[in-house]
Amino acid sequence: MMVENHLFEALFEMFPFGVYVVDIKTYQVIYANRRYKEAHGDCVNKVCYEAIYKEDSPCHYCKIKQLVDEQGKPNNTTLIFERFNEYNDCWYQHHEKTLCWSDDRTVKYTIEVDICELKAMQNRLAEAHALLAIKNKELVEINRHDELTKVFNRSHLNHVLDAQIYDMARYNSLFSVVLIDIDDFKKINDTQGHLVGDVVLIEMAQLINDNIRLSDCFGRWGGEEFMIIVPHLKSLNNTITFVKKLCKIIADHSFSVVGHCTCSFGVAHCTPSDTMISIVKNADDALYFAKAHGKNQVVVYDQLNRK
Ligand code: GH3
Ligand code: MG
Ligand code: MG
Repeated sequence: MMVENHLFEALFEMFPFGVYVVDIKTYQVIYANRRYKEAHGDCVNKVCYEAIYKEDSPCHYCKIKQLVDEQGKPNNTTLIFERFNEYNDCWYQHHEKTLCWSDDRTVKYTIEVDICELKAMQNRLAEAHALLAIKNKELVEINRHDELTKVFNRSHLNHVLDAQIYDMARYNSLFSVVLIDIDDFKKINDTQGHLVGDVVLIEMAQLINDNIRLSDCFGRWGGEEFMIIVPHLKSLNNTITFVKKLCKIIADHSFSVVGHCTCSFGVAHCTPSDTMISIVKNADDALYFAKAHGKNQVVVYDQLNRK
C-alpha cells in the first residue's frame, strides 16, 4: 500500500496539470501536486475556499453537493467546467469527482487544466469571425450598389422585382415599375465630355433618390436609365401623380454643369399574368412612346393602348 501511494504521488508530481484533493466535510486540502502548488501556492492542510478562492465560506465554484449522494458518499458523477482565476489571470478547465479516501473519508479531487492558450485562440477566432461578418456585410452592400451613382444596381433591382412578382402571386400585393431615361444624354457627353456626363448621372440619381418614398426601391438600370419599383400601398393614381411630380422636379432642377436636363418616364402597373420580363417590357414600351412623342413626360402603359 505504501509503495502504491509513493508511486501515485510520484506520478502526480509529474502531471502537466494541477491536482488537488479536498475533504468534503472540513473543506481541508489534503493533497496538492507540484503543478497545483506552483500555480496557487501551498494550500495543503488549509481550507480550500480560503486558500484557493480567497472566500470566507464555500464559494460558488463548490460542486460538492452535486458529487455526493444523500449519505454524502461518492455518486460517481464527473463534473467538467471552466473557471477564470482572477488572481493569476488564467482560465482553467476543472474535472471534479468524489471518491473514498484510504481512511474512508469522502474526498473531492480536482484535475485543473490550464486553458489560457485555448481561450486566447478562441478569442482570436471570435474576433476574426466578427471581422469577417462585417466584411461580408460590406461586400453584400458593394454588390447591391452601382459604383458610379451609389444607388442600387440592376442586379438588386432584378432581385426586388423577383420578390414583388412572388408577393403578387402569394399576397395579391400590387406594384408598378417606372423606367426613367435621361433625355438627349448623348448630347451632354458629345458636347461637354464623358466626365460631365458622369456628374449628371450622379446628380440625377441623387435627385430622384431624394424624392422617392421609403417604401420605393430605386436604382440604376443601366447607362442613363433608372428604375423605381413602387409598391401599391394606396392607389394606382397615386403612383402616376407621384411620377408626374418627379418629372417636373427634374425639369425644374438646375444641374451643376449642364443647367437643365429632363427625363422621360414609362410606367407599367403589374397584372396577375405579368412576369418580370413582361412588366419591364411594358414600362419600356411606355418609355419608348414618351421618347417618340416629345420626351420630358410620363406615359403609362395601360393608357398606351388607348392612345
Ligand atoms: P434619348 O433622349 O432618346 O434617350 O437620347 P439619349 O442621347 O439620351 O440616348 P442614347 O441612347 O442615344 O445615348 C445614351 C448615352 O449614354 C450613350 C452612352 O455613351 C451614354 N452613357 C451610358 N453610360 C454612361 C456612363 O456611365 N457615363 C457617361 N458619361 N455616359 C454614359
Ligand atoms: Mg437610354
Ligand atoms: Mg436617354
